Amino acid sequence: MLPPFELRRPVSLAAAVDLVATGGTPYCGGTELLAVMRLGLASPETLVDLKRVPELVGITAAHGEIRLGARVTHREAAASDAVRTHAAILAAGAGLLGNVRVRATGTLAGNVCFAEPRSDILTALLALDASVDLRSADGARSVPIEDFVEGAFTTVRADEELLEAIRVPARSGPSAYVRFAPAEHPTVTVAVVATGDGCRVVVGAVGERPELFTFPGTGDVDPTAIAERVDITEDLNGHEDYKRHLTAVFVGRALEQMGVADA
Ligand SMILES: Cc1cc2nc3c(=O)[nH]c(=O)nc-3n(C[C@H](O)[C@H](O)[C@H](O)COP(=O)(O)OP(=O)(O)OC[C@H]3O[C@@H](n4cnc5c(N)ncnc54)[C@H](O)[C@@H]3O)c2cc1C
Repeated sequence: MLPPFELRRPVSLAAAVDLVATGGTPYCGGTELLAVMRLGLASPETLVDLKRVPELVGITAAHGEIRLGARVTHREAAASDAVRTHAAILAAGAGLLGNVRVRATGTLAGNVCFAEPRSDILTALLALDASVDLRSADGARSVPIEDFVEGAFTTVRADEELLEAIRVPARSGPSAYVRFAPAEHPTVTVAVVATGDGCRVVVGAVGERPELFTFPGTGDVDPTAIAERVDITEDLNGHEDYKRHLTAVFVGRALEQMGVADA
């Protein structure tokens, strides 16, 4: 059973920010928040439903970046031409994660704020060097995704801050996204992005948060070296050796997908 709560449904960003400033808990899809409430792990007095806030809707591409409003669902991101063209690995992760119900109702913003360690979205966003726009009654700030997630289920977002949008630099170079998910959430996620001045490799799901490795070029990426260095958390998905092995295999597969010789 859900604990009792008051539900507020603001129709403007200003009203939503005011409600969050006075102690309301924001939510959108509810796929995570309502689950933790049912488990008795959270019992907010006031929920602030963001689904009617017009400023949080939509995906736009301009000035070399893609902006995804906080109401954008995984399904919308996966189907978006702008995301598929300029942030292909984000479209791939959003299109593969969870199940059709989660993709239709869950938002990228909710995924990022929840900071579940096995997040496809955080893996892709870190590889793409994305950032998040936060808004509170005191003003707005932008935080790189690399600094936003501190650890498992922990971010630098203050309780009174709303995540307004996710911003992703538009990229058209080679990239790859692979994952291994024998259960509901992935056991390993790997994203590789070739940038103008190097290569970004992110390994996710094996530790508390996705981890970034940078190289001068795709030809310099060594899957075994990454597997030896990555921070691992042993859990029901596997012990350390197993996760290191999977990491090497899936970094290799991502390089193969990019057509890197000798991967
Ligand atoms: C069965 C299942 C399978 C899943 N599989 C995967 C998977 O394979 N890969 C993966 O990456 N994820 C997976 N997920 C997680 C899924 O992606 C998230 O549940 C979803 O994206 C969260 O979005 P939401 O809008 O439902 O968040 P909500 O449940 O509405 O909110 C989640 C948290 O974020 C906060 N929040 C939400 N929006 C904002 C905002 N705009 N500003 C500030 N705080 C906010 C809420 O207060 C809450 O703490 C799975 C989830 C389920 C239930």
